[in-house]
Amino acid sequence: MRVHAYAAPAAGEPLARTTIERRDVGPADVLIEIEYAGICHSDIHTVNGDWGPQPFPVVPGHEIVGTVREIGSDVTTHRVGDRVGVGCMVNSCGECANCRNGDEQYCLSGMVPTYAGTDRDGTTTQGGYSTHVVVDAGYVLRVPDGIDPAATAPLLCAGITTYSPLRRWGAGPGTRVAVVGLGGLGHMAVKLAHAMGAEVTVLSQSLKKQEDGLRLGADAYFATSDPDTFTQLAGRFDLIVNTVSAAVDVDAYLSLLAVDGALVNVGAPADPLPVNAMSLIGGRRTFAGSMIGGIAETQEMLDFCAEHGLGADVEVIAADRVNEAYERVLASDVRYRFVIDASTLR
Ligand code: NAP
Ligand code: ZN
Repeated sequence: MRVHAYAAPAAGEPLARTTIERRDVGPADVLIEIEYAGICHSDIHTVNGDWGPQPFPVVPGHEIVGTVREIGSDVTTHRVGDRVGVGCMVNSCGECANCRNGDEQYCLSGMVPTYAGTDRDGTTTQGGYSTHVVVDAGYVLRVPDGIDPAATAPLLCAGITTYSPLRRWGAGPGTRVAVVGLGGLGHMAVKLAHAMGAEVTVLSQSLKKQEDGLRLGADAYFATSDPDTFTQLAGRFDLIVNTVSAAVDVDAYLSLLAVDGALVNVGAPADPLPVNAMSLIGGRRTFAGSMIGGIAETQEMLDFCAEHGLGADVEVIAADRVNEAYERVLASDVRYRFVIDASTLR
């Protein structure tokens, strides 16, 4: 099946309209007509070559919401007409210890990313900036009834990537959580941590978005450009989730942790993040990382968001504005996720 898409032809080049081939619906597959696709900073890192060579042309997009149009003969989990979502992963081995443990994102054979990956049939995956996608039903999530589809798309990456570490490191009543960077991931971290009952502080480059941060659920908001922030907040937080897309001064953020506190990095900058051992040993602190979440956990996150009335704050755009949106994301001028209306790809 030939479908409309938006692709990066080569590293660092503007994205442009194209058509791509989608595989036939196999017995275990679901054909999804895409309604919305979020723009994640990872899409930009990928097409700009920040993470090394890619199999161009690349159709990015791993925050997908759409409607099931066809199912394979073995599929029992989804029906034609269901609203569904697809996140950052479209396959994994399903048999290794990590897959069996519900951590498919850490599959020992390597999970198959939604785009620029090699699927288990040897083909290169192409993502959600497209009108349709064919995905193994095991990697397709149910979108609960009554939640806005455009605001739901970013949950499939920004939502799960922040939900997972917040849960794992125990964000909840009585805990103090800081979120570094108020972009796509950061604004979801604020909403989710607040809904979990934590006391939430935003650490942003400036106070420009302070009003938004407080409206999203933060209890406090500080500018990291002000050196006083780091003296005032020393030793304060149980958990810091760093969502910044560029390298930050890790030691400075570690100094904000209480004893046994954890700084969890979800930002994935091209440059290394050096750490001074003293920043860790003084205070028994943890410096950790986390990548998206497993399939069952992603479903749990979607259900949590439906229950709490949470979605992303989105700016819905036509496909022809993708390159402009990339520029704005790179300039930290996103409030707080661009989402492509896939009907504009036709
Ligand atoms: P985003 O919307 O661009 O947000 C990043 C935020 O970081 C910006 O809004 C800005 O917030 C802050 N920032 C940007 N450049 C900065 C700099 N030079 N110094 C200090 N702060 C800066 O990006 P995103 O889509 O949320 O993604 C964030 C990062 O997470 C990316 O690296 C992405 O690849 C990664 N990611 C990882 C996973 C995972 O599984 N671990 C999943 C998805 C994305 P302020 O304006 O508030 O300072
Ligand atoms: Zn993403």
